Amino acid sequence: MLRSFFIGLSTNKPFRAFSERSSIGRRVSRRFIAGMSVAEAIEAAAALNAEGISVSLDSLGESVLEVSQAEESAAVYHQLLDAIEARKLRANVSVKLTQVGMDIGGPGAGPALAERIVGEMVAHAASFGNFVRIDMEGSEYTEETIAMTERLHTKYPGAVGTVLQAYLFRTASDVERLIAGGIRIRLCKGAYKEPAEIAFPAKSDVDANYIKLMQRCVSSPVFCGIATHDEAIVDNLRAFVAEHNIDKRAFEFQLLYGIRRDLQRKLVAEGFGVRVYLPFGPEWYPYFMRRLAERPANVLFLARNFFKS
Ligand SMILES: Cc1cc2nc3c(=O)[nH]c(=O)nc-3n(C[C@H](O)[C@H](O)[C@H](O)COP(=O)(O)OP(=O)(O)OC[C@H]3O[C@@H](n4cnc5c(N)ncnc54)[C@H](O)[C@@H]3O)c2cc1C
Repeated sequence: MLRSFFIGLSTNKPFRAFSERSSIGRRVSRRFIAGMSVAEAIEAAAALNAEGISVSLDSLGESVLEVSQAEESAAVYHQLLDAIEARKLRANVSVKLTQVGMDIGGPGAGPALAERIVGEMVAHAASFGNFVRIDMEGSEYTEETIAMTERLHTKYPGAVGTVLQAYLFRTASDVERLIAGGIRIRLCKGAYKEPAEIAFPAKSDVDANYIKLMQRCVSSPVFCGIATHDEAIVDNLRAFVAEHNIDKRAFEFQLLYGIRRDLQRKLVAEGFGVRVYLPFGPEWYPYFMRRLAERPANVLFLARNFFKS
């Protein structure tokens, strides 16, 4: 019930506007958001690199409805790519299609605009051997996100990949589709509210599907990101790679900034590749609410820290 409450709040516009403007909101969100500016995000990425952790930088924003906003989001990503290259960071970027115009109506907007903007980012990243990950959003975008990734991968092989969500029934076949195309996959459980016709309603089924798909991903020749904080799943993968003699560097674990920092460090110490997804920027609200939805106990955790600091 609390999950639905926070997912509902994540799309509540008046509460979002109020929270993003308020200094209390910014203070509370700090645990999961690495700062408000490119400079702060780059410093946070450098600090993680120093601990042996790679990064994927996410300039927060989604569901933009003006072409100018989509272009502004793109400009931030180009700055990030230049800063990553200038500082020689072990970092790439993650972007959402609704942040670069996917939902905007009218000629020259919508998917065509999103593809043009993301295509320019991928070209920029490819020019110095970097990589753009297209995040996965709600199921209304799944097919178009995969198809766009495939088209961009054909133009810039290896410089773009996307995300598949284990809660969707279709994902088993999408995993095969992307592996066949040599396209990098980030596998996650899925963070949106989906109907029972297309997604497993029970968490135990999502977890079981995740394990099956994860084992398939790490056994494939494609470099995949195993995006989870679920320790039972991490244990399963440790045992699976040991049993099948899979190189620890043939894949990487991916975790969110500020979540299970103990596990992040432990995996690095064990010799696994670890990447942290590092979100930043003033439009933090929907991302933050989805993190509360995943673990409502975070509300208590944040409240305790708020009054301590
Ligand atoms: C790097 C990365 C990228 C992602 N990208 C996408 C994407 O593009 N699209 C998408 O739909 N989803 C994305 N997600 C979110 C994902 O789908 C899940 O919603 C989220 O990771 C929680 O699932 P879990 O695998 O950690 O397992 P869960 O079963 O939800 O959690 C397992 C354990 O992890 C810990 N944990 C999990 N979440 C939190 C939290 N918020 N705060 C504190 N502890 C927590 C708790 O100890 C919990 O018991 C991404 C996740 C990661 C790690």
